[in-house]
Amino acid sequence: MQHLGFSHNKIKIGSFDFTCCEGCQLQLANRESTLPAFLELLDIRNFREISSEKHDDYDIALVEGSITREDEVERLKTIRSNAKVLIAYGSCACFGGVNSLKNRFPLEESVKEVYGEKQIDTLPVRRVSDIVHVDFSIPGCPVSKEEVERIVVSVVTGSMIGLPKYPVCVECKQKLNTCLFDLGEICLGPITRAGCDAVCTTGKTPCLGCRGPAEDINFTSFTELVTEKQLPVDDMNEKLGFYNCFEEFRHDKS
Ligand code: SF4
Ligand code: SF4
Ligand code: SF4
Repeated sequence: MQHLGFSHNKIKIGSFDFTCCEGCQLQLANRESTLPAFLELLDIRNFREISSEKHDDYDIALVEGSITREDEVERLKTIRSNAKVLIAYGSCACFGGVNSLKNRFPLEESVKEVYGEKQIDTLPVRRVSDIVHVDFSIPGCPVSKEEVERIVVSVVTGSMIGLPKYPVCVECKQKLNTCLFDLGEICLGPITRAGCDAVCTTGKTPCLGCRGPAEDINFTSFTELVTEKQLPVDDMNEKLGFYNCFEEFRHDKS
């Protein structure tokens, strides 16, 4: 990734939301304990949930949400051309996220179901990287605010911190959790990238893979585990499709 080579003291940053719930932006805005120190580094040029400033000169653009309308395509291209570094953050931006469930049905049919005869400008859901070049992706639904801060600081300082390569199971086992497979649940922890501190499984909820695939995953042994435990493959496929992160691995394409 490009190092910015900043000549000014504060880094100019903007955050832009597209189709999403804006939960990832909220994560950053709610980080009261470290937000002042984080903002010390940054000159907020455009960030609807934090500031009323609206300028088009920014070094880093944080982009949240998936792309589902023609006007969003054009707006995203403009943001890309304004920014030196574009960071997609949140599973909607990185993978399409839960919004991608829409792509499983014919577009006209779903529009009619929801809006009746009203004309709606809508497109199949796309990731940010389907439209423009993305310098860095920070997955999660929502993102981990510590991780976003760490990565933005690393871009600013040129230290280039990456995402964890190992799966959620590593963090889950460090917490001495009982494995949910042993309780009869399908959990995507063995194939999902860590970095969330196994927040769901620690709360006894199976991982749905919001951070996308870990590196070098053994998907075959994961499916073998599901069948050995006599757990339903349909349930596994449904979980794999939830955030649109595992499309290359899913057996059913429904
Ligand atoms: S990734 Fe999740 S929390 Fe973030 S904007 Fe999308 S739906 Fe909301
Ligand atoms: S509960 Fe999930 S994340 Fe935790 S060890 Fe079991 S499979 Fe891995
Ligand atoms: S446990 Fe899985 S679904 Fe939950 S936050 Fe972590 S990666 Fe996302």
